[in-house]
Parts: sequence; C-alpha cells; structure tokens
Amino acid sequence: MEQTSSRQGGTPREDGVQSPHSHTHDPQEIRAIVNRLSRSIGHLESVKKMLEDGKDCADVLIQLSAVRSEINNAGKLLLKEHMEHCIVEAVEQNDTASIEKMNKAIDMFMK
Ligand SMILES: [Zn+2]
Repeated sequence: MEQTSSRQGGTPREDGVQSPHSHTHDPQEIRAIVNRLSRSIGHLESVKKMLEDGKDCADVLIQLSAVRSEINNAGKLLLKEHMEHCIVEAVEQNDTASIEKMNKAIDMFMK
C-alpha cells in the first residue's frame, strides 16, 4: 500500500520525473561510483586492445580479473550507499517491497 502523503525525504525533481525509487542518495557518492565505472570501462577497453594486439593470454586474464574486482567494488559501494540511505528510509516507512527487492538484488550480486 502506498502512502505518498506521509513520505519524507524524497526530493521531487523540478521536471516532475520520479527517480527509480523515492529514496534519496548522496550525489557525491553516486558521482564517485559513476567515476569508478568510467575507469573500469576504460580499463576493459584496454583489455580488448591487448587481445587484438596479440598480448600474452596470462596477462590478459590478469587484467580481466582486475576489471572484475573494480566492478565488484563499485557494486559494493553502491550497496553501502543504498543501505545507508534508501534501506534506512524503507525500514522507517515500513516499505517491505523495497527491502524485498534489495534482498533479491543482493542474491544476484553475490552469486
Ligand atoms: Zn538507493
């Protein structure tokens, strides 16, 4: 059941578009995660180039695993950020659907 009238903290955007969820994030934290993902994209591009250039497969694998850890770390940061802001609010507002959804996402992320 939605109780939009009693919602707090969800800053409505000027253009009236709802964010994916009504909870708020720290924009600086989100920016930091976006920057990390941009670096990982660059890193992955360089791995692609290594393959194209016929670099040693062991070296390519090492770099691939480095990209994988970067992506995992970005996911962990997002998870922490989401726990600190959205999930805390969801618990306060008894928003069980959001908590349930996050549980499923954590299962997929940890797999
Ligand atoms: Zn969130």
